[in-house]
Amino acid sequence: MNGNTRTFRMASLVAVLVLALGIMTGCVQSAPNATSTDANAVSEQRVGDVSQSLTDEASKQLEAEMSAFELTALQREQAKGSERGYEVLDAGRGNPNWINAKARRAYARLMEFATIESERDMSEGDMAGHAQLDGIGERFSKAMDASDETDAFLLESVAYCVDTLGMNKDALVFELVNGIVGDYYPSPSRCLSLTEKILGDYLQSVLYDGEDLKAQTEIFPTEGGSAAMCYVFESLNHNKVLKPGDKIAIATPIFTPYLEIPHVNDYGLVSVNVSSGAEDGWDIPADELAKLEDPTIKAFFLVNPSNPASHALSDQTIERLAQVVEKNPSLIILTDDVYGTFVSGFRSVYSRIPHNTILVYSFSKFYGVTGWRVGLIAMHEQNVVDRLISELPQKDANALAQEYSIVMPDVSGFKFIDRMCADSRSIGLYHTSGLATPAQVFMDVLALTHLVDAEGDPYIELSNRTVNERYKALMDTLGLSADESGENAKYYTLVDVNDLAKRRHGEGFAAWKASEVGDVKFLEDLAVREGVVLMNGPGFDAPAGCARVSLANLNKDDYVEIARRMNELLDDYYAEYEKTTQPADAA
Ligand SMILES: *Cc1c(COP(=O)(O)O)cnc(C)c1O
Repeated sequence: MNGNTRTFRMASLVAVLVLALGIMTGCVQSAPNATSTDANAVSEQRVGDVSQSLTDEASKQLEAEMSAFELTALQREQAKGSERGYEVLDAGRGNPNWINAKARRAYARLMEFATIESERDMSEGDMAGHAQLDGIGERFSKAMDASDETDAFLLESVAYCVDTLGMNKDALVFELVNGIVGDYYPSPSRCLSLTEKILGDYLQSVLYDGEDLKAQTEIFPTEGGSAAMCYVFESLNHNKVLKPGDKIAIATPIFTPYLEIPHVNDYGLVSVNVSSGAEDGWDIPADELAKLEDPTIKAFFLVNPSNPASHALSDQTIERLAQVVEKNPSLIILTDDVYGTFVSGFRSVYSRIPHNTILVYSFSKFYGVTGWRVGLIAMHEQNVVDRLISELPQKDANALAQEYSIVMPDVSGFKFIDRMCADSRSIGLYHTSGLATPAQVFMDVLALTHLVDAEGDPYIELSNRTVNERYKALMDTLGLSADESGENAKYYTLVDVNDLAKRRHGEGFAAWKASEVGDVKFLEDLAVREGVVLMNGPGFDAPAGCARVSLANLNKDDYVEIARRMNELLDDYYAEYEKTTQPADAA
């Protein structure tokens, strides 16, 4: 898989989705004369026709190509009412089964205070006015009860922002109160002013490993890491920094949208895999990294710590990457550090190569806030994207200037991070862009639960211990040795099922399992017979035989049970294998 160039047609994606729909509604039948590669023919037919025009083989292959997430949705259905009558254990998607309680309590308390402040201004029936700046800091301190845990946290948070971050108390409480009430459009639209400082301080504390970059880092809060990814791709394309036909590199295996997005939406990007494997401890080897020295590679996308392998890059690899950037100084790096808090002493690529790196972060996983949609994009105030925009051919620059001029009179200084904000609302609605202010304030509160305890955040320790225990339980029961390296985030793990088969019943059986059962069928059987949902590793461009187990969404004992059921299925296969290899009279 190393170094192969992927090309992927929109049509085949459509066909796969259409098929997924067919399978999920249970209407796929076998029929002759269609092949999985004949995507155009398939997409020209109506959904009902498609469902009847695929051979078993074709549908198998399409399933294999199907986005890993669609496949998991299908298996989630299959796992209900498993043949053995087991309870469903879904370790597929990465939604955690914990939440941060402190931030929720504090948020509710802050909302209460903010509402009372609004009623101070005007109150008639259910109608209230706007909060007032004058003296709001003192009123806040008086309203909070220092003997109450939640109030004490809010008092500490305000004290931290005033004493450590040097904020004006009235201005801070006013921003939090207006923000949580949500009675004004976000202003500045990209990010509320003091919120940008709090979030910058948080990112520095959890991701930069001692580098001091917060004063030079600009932030765009977004609707989760998902929106952050979309906005980055969209604006790199719109601003002609990445053009159709351009080459980009992707650190594989990776969270599937990074494989899929470059090929849809007419972005037309050509992607090159920069791969790592179990044999490298899921760290990117030097020869793979060296591919990025090629100046025709315009951008490099990585998830760190990775998903699905859940490993952080080593310091040595980050140093090598910095050397690569010296040879290819226009390389744009996008690092998605959603899982940074699960590795102690984590160091983001952004902290080492800030001028070339766009940082994506999300609160979703660590704090259990996937429904909130809270994430962000961070960039250094001096960055390669702004330089590349300033070097665009005159014709492109003029065309962009004309577009942005409807919201920005002097386009020359209009930074990429602000362009992303404008682009997120099709430029024309720039004045109503920006993330909902109550969501921005929630991010402040989440960040402050960490910052007030920055010396040793007990919540970080707790969440790391939680996934670690689950990981141990799974690996012990599978009879595999645990990887206790510091880079292992353990939010997910990739289990090499073929290797497991070999350990359990020998090489001959493992080879039979790999060829006769395959990956998708194994996961399907695991769902249908055993009621267990995992994700298909090859869907993330991980090696054949790998299954991703999320360690985030079930309890420790459930992982013991998942491992037991995986072993049980392999034992079932082994019985089948023995039947096929032993002559009938042996029975
Ligand atoms: C879960 C995940 C996201 C999505 O984050 P949201 O904030 O929930 O949109 C982004 N990147 C990676 C690598 C993820 O695993």
